[in-house]
Amino acid sequence: MEIKQKLIQWYLLNQRSLPFRDSRNPYHIWISEIMAQQTQIDTMIPYYLRWIEQFPTIESVALAQESEILKAWEGLGYYRRARFIHAAAKKLVRDFNSVIPDNYDDIRSLPGIGDYTAGAIFSIAFNKPVLAVDGNVIRVVTRLFGIDEDPSKKSTLDGIKDRLSPFLDNENNFILTQAWMELGALVCTPKNPKCLECPLNKECFAYANSMQASLPKVSKKKKVKEEHYDVFINTSKDSILMSLDDTDGLMTGMYRLPQTIQQIREQTPDYTVKHVFSHKIWKLKVYLNQIDLNHEDWISLKIDELKNVPIITAHKKIISKLLK
Ligand code: SF4
Repeated sequence: MEIKQKLIQWYLLNQRSLPFRDSRNPYHIWISEIMAQQTQIDTMIPYYLRWIEQFPTIESVALAQESEILKAWEGLGYYRRARFIHAAAKKLVRDFNSVIPDNYDDIRSLPGIGDYTAGAIFSIAFNKPVLAVDGNVIRVVTRLFGIDEDPSKKSTLDGIKDRLSPFLDNENNFILTQAWMELGALVCTPKNPKCLECPLNKECFAYANSMQASLPKVSKKKKVKEEHYDVFINTSKDSILMSLDDTDGLMTGMYRLPQTIQQIREQTPDYTVKHVFSHKIWKLKVYLNQIDLNHEDWISLKIDELKNVPIITAHKKIISKLLK
C-alpha cells in the first residue's frame, strides 16, 4: 500500500474527536488553527468552544469591541493573534461579503494569515490541493525521509514541501492534511515516538536508522531573557489603579497593573512572582498599597469592573491572589 493510502486509512481509524474536526466551515477552521498555534490542543478547546458561542459569525467578530475580543482571548497569550482575527474579520465584512474567499491569494492577504494557516483553511475547508506544514508535519517528514537540515531555514522548509507535494490529492486533501498533522501529534511525537504503531514505519528512514531522537535537527535555542519589574497594587475604597501601557508591544489593548523597571526600595515586597513567556521571563516584586503612585497614564477602575476587562495573565494571577 502506498504511503498516502496508509496515512488516510490510519487517520480514519485513529483521529481524535475534536470539536472543530466535524466542521468544514472555513471560519471554524480559521479560528481553531490560529488558536492552536503556540497553544496545546487541550488548552485551546474550551477557548474555541466559548469563542464560537460568543462570536458565531464573522460579522459578530467584526462588530465586537477590541476589549471583548481580547477578553475572549484572555489567558491564551500571543494577543496579536486575536487582534489580527479582529482586523481580518473587518476586512472580510468590508471586502468579501463576510465570507472567507476560496481563493488562496485572497485568504493569504488577510491580516495574521501566513502560508500555514492559509494552507490549512484552503485544504481542510475547501479540500484544495495545497500544503499546510506545521511543526507536527515537519517532524514526521524529516524523520520519514531523513532530512537532516535545520527546518527553521527556508531552504529546508522548501525541501520538506517538495517531499510532500507528490502526496497532494485532488479528492482527499482535507483528510491528508489532517492525517500528517495527527500522525505527528499522536504517534511521531517529539520524544519517544510510537514507531511500532506507526503506519509508515516500513518506509521510515529515522526508524530504520535509529535516528528518531536526532531528527528534526534542532536549531540552537536563543537564551531566554530575564526582566525584573516592580508591580503595584494600589487600591482605594472600591477602586484599583490599572494601566493600558503597551510600550513593550507585548499585549496592546490588555489591562495590566502599574509596572516599572525594578528599583532598590526600602519597602519589602508583599509578594514575588515569576511569569514565564516563551521568549522571556518576568521576575516581579509586588507592593500592595505601600507606595504612592502618581502617573497620569494610570487609570482608576472599579474593582468590580475587573472581571469585564481583559487583563494580562501575569497580573491577573497577582490580582486574584492579593485581592482575595
Ligand atoms: S516510524 Fe517512527 S519516526 Fe518514523 S514516522 Fe513513524 S513514528 Fe515517526
